[in-house]
Amino acid sequence: MKSSRSLLLLFLLSGCAKKSLFEEHQWFHTTSQHGPPLITQQFSAPENIRPSEAKAIRAGSAEIQFQEVFLAGIPLKSSFIKTVWRNSQPIFISSRVPSEALSLDLDRLKTMERDVLTIQFFLKKYDPLLKVEKARIVWLPSLSGIHLSFEVTALNADGEFVEFLIDPDHQVLSKRRLDSGFEPAALNSTTSSSQVFARIFPLGPKYSQLQNIALSGLVGDGTLNSRRAKVTTLSAEKVQIAGDQIQYDPDSEKFDQVQVYHFVSQTLDSIEKQYGVEIPFQLDVQLHVGSPQKTNTAFYYGGHIRLGRGDEELYRKIPQDPSIVYHETYHAMIEVLAKLPNEGEGGALNEAFADFFTALQLDSPLLAESSYLKAAYKRTLNETHLLSEKTGQKYHDSLIVSSLLWECRKILGREMAGQISLKTLSLLTPISDFRDFIEKFKQVSPEFASAQQTRDLQALLQRRGW
Ligand SMILES: [Zn+2]
Repeated sequence: MKSSRSLLLLFLLSGCAKKSLFEEHQWFHTTSQHGPPLITQQFSAPENIRPSEAKAIRAGSAEIQFQEVFLAGIPLKSSFIKTVWRNSQPIFISSRVPSEALSLDLDRLKTMERDVLTIQFFLKKYDPLLKVEKARIVWLPSLSGIHLSFEVTALNADGEFVEFLIDPDHQVLSKRRLDSGFEPAALNSTTSSSQVFARIFPLGPKYSQLQNIALSGLVGDGTLNSRRAKVTTLSAEKVQIAGDQIQYDPDSEKFDQVQVYHFVSQTLDSIEKQYGVEIPFQLDVQLHVGSPQKTNTAFYYGGHIRLGRGDEELYRKIPQDPSIVYHETYHAMIEVLAKLPNEGEGGALNEAFADFFTALQLDSPLLAESSYLKAAYKRTLNETHLLSEKTGQKYHDSLIVSSLLWECRKILGREMAGQISLKTLSLLTPISDFRDFIEKFKQVSPEFASAQQTRDLQALLQRRGW
């Protein structure tokens, strides 16, 4: 079911905005009358277009596969083909692919293949503190066609992930932050041999007392390292596990590391067991970013979570706040299922789902309740936000969606609200907006909800202007 069977049979339908170079398509296989009209057509791909190889990831009873489009062996930036499979059959395909054969200018490719190996050197001139994580050559779409360009992911001095697009003459074309924050601001052995108990807060300091909790899945190398996640610190105080019991002062940075390991494990358990989603990489979690300075850093990007300790003015003890750790961990699930972006309405959806799954797990709508110092919490989903209140500000707009989902939970119950949200998310893509979200939500919910619940949901959507 995995191998990229030539899925260039596409599809067409609703809301396809035609951009100059790309066509956007969605196709549903559905026998349900709630589904959109099914119009299938053959997409005759130009000769040199190929989807990338990609493994499908398990997501509940479905499997999800994301592919990029390659032209003459080079990836085309911002293209994708998302396929959802069930029982080895594609049930949903969404894509952003070139609308016609593009003329490919490969003149500079040879020198670029040499330069990509030393791109670090060129970027150093731009900012000497940048550390290159990944560099590759891509086709970059522009108004005048597509051009070869370097795509570089680098870490800046603040430990943030930044993407640079650089032309063949080494001029920086653009630069942007890649991560999903909490607010504006190769796998190890699978055998878990060691059972270690740690004295921590099972539900965070606000709602639990210190208890001895078994740390799940440690590989036994003396660090906080499992097949699924590795927790490290930039502080000098690093956890070293010897024996089967660890106990640290709750004010210490070592305590933070153990507490975060536990919160991340809890969330990954829920992602796997409750939602049936397999995260195909080990999460790299780094704490005390900026140490010895105290920062309010909290973000996720591409398998990496970065947390500061809190500056004691806005936040304190960020690693001990379950809502922030859960939120960043759920970004990994959202990335695997939908690759939602970090900007625009898609960015607001990304934050909304991270907050909503977090609130479900906490069984509380309050975010950053134990770490935020300026108020009782940073955000609450227990509010009414109308669709018409949209401002374009990502975290504000995310509340329009997350508070809607939270209200749905009151109609549907926790379990069903989670399943409907998961399935809705699995039908979203890097170009989804609020309209796409609500279409998918309306389509998915009757599969789970009773007739009465469906009527209640419709009334709720109407009240909030959807
Ligand atoms: Zn976030």
